[in-house]
Amino acid sequence: WTEGTLAEAENSLRELAALAETAGSEVLDGIVQRRLKPDPATYLGSGKAKELRDIVAATGADTVVVDSELAPSQRRGLEDVVKVKVIDRTGLILDIFAQHAKSKEGKAQVELAQLEYLLPRLRGWGESLSRQAGGRAAAGEGIGSRGPGETKIELDRRRIRTRMAKLRREIAAMKPARETKRLNRRRHSVPSVAIAGYTNAGKSSLLNRLTDAGVLVENALFATLDPTVRRAQTPDGIGYTLSDTVGFVRSLPTQLVEAFRSTLEEVADSDLILHVVDASHPDPEGQIRAVRQVFTDIDAQNIPEIIALNKVDAADPFVVERIKQRERNVVVVSARTGEGIEELRQRISESIPRPETVLDLLVP
Ligand code: GDP
Repeated sequence: WTEGTLAEAENSLRELAALAETAGSEVLDGIVQRRLKPDPATYLGSGKAKELRDIVAATGADTVVVDSELAPSQRRGLEDVVKVKVIDRTGLILDIFAQHAKSKEGKAQVELAQLEYLLPRLRGWGESLSRQAGGRAAAGEGIGSRGPGETKIELDRRRIRTRMAKLRREIAAMKPARETKRLNRRRHSVPSVAIAGYTNAGKSSLLNRLTDAGVLVENALFATLDPTVRRAQTPDGIGYTLSDTVGFVRSLPTQLVEAFRSTLEEVADSDLILHVVDASHPDPEGQIRAVRQVFTDIDAQNIPEIIALNKVDAADPFVVERIKQRERNVVVVSARTGEGIEELRQRISESIPRPETVLDLLVP
């Protein structure tokens, strides 16, 4: 291990913590172990696993999330030591996708990825459940429990494969419908802004900053929105929706790519994209390029975009300046200190489509 690998591991762990928070968990603690190879039985070495068990006991944690893909037997081995549910990075990401998938296609894509993930782990799930019947079931509400998995555990592999084949056919049949939908992109009665960017870029912090001023307006139109959509308003009082989309992650397992894209559909359907970039990241420009490539893949490349260059309080001023020079429509902000937030509100206000009259707002 060099210091570089340690820094990389810590960055990756920060992203994992942000992912777990996205999934609705509170992150209590984190540990890193330096080892040449994961322990084949328990992933962490036995001493470190016991240390983790003590941390779990001291904090009252109900889940351990491991920043790696675990073999089914390692997951079981580690669960036996720490005595709480263990999930890995892919399992966590799938759970977040399940929360974000809204359309029929999105749901089908996510279920397909979940089944693909579940298939080789089937025995693992079954064994650990039957051994711990009762206790585990009560803890089954948290992350890792949405979608297939424990509820479909009795399905044998063949039935899972049949289901997967059916999902693939359904998805293939849905493609033309999606194209038509894009062509007739509906005009929103309320302008919609999608927040996109890497996990840990500060999307939810910014969402909170932007919506604070918006809670003053009580508007029935917004009452039944789903939880990832919040309302906000421009400085001159025009209401709009802000939706927090599923975050990009640094090394997305290839079997999750399609599911990821299909959960980003709010982006392709929005009036404005607020692309949040972590200016303190080692390669913010690489991240901007990767995000834009996906915008193109999901046919969102022509939607107006504002880059919110976030974490300016922690960033190298030269990097901030460089990005400002090279990119259009950049607003430099810090969700932490509040710097630039007013300017961002103003820029959003200038960039969203304006209803012709106030009456437009009242007629959905
Ligand atoms: P998300 O995963 O994109 O929703 O990111 P979060 O909003 O959860 O933020 C990820 C981490 O970055 C958290 O630890 C935040 O406290 C931190 N963060 C967010 N905005 C800023 C900022 O402007 N400056 C600094 N220094 N940290 C920030």
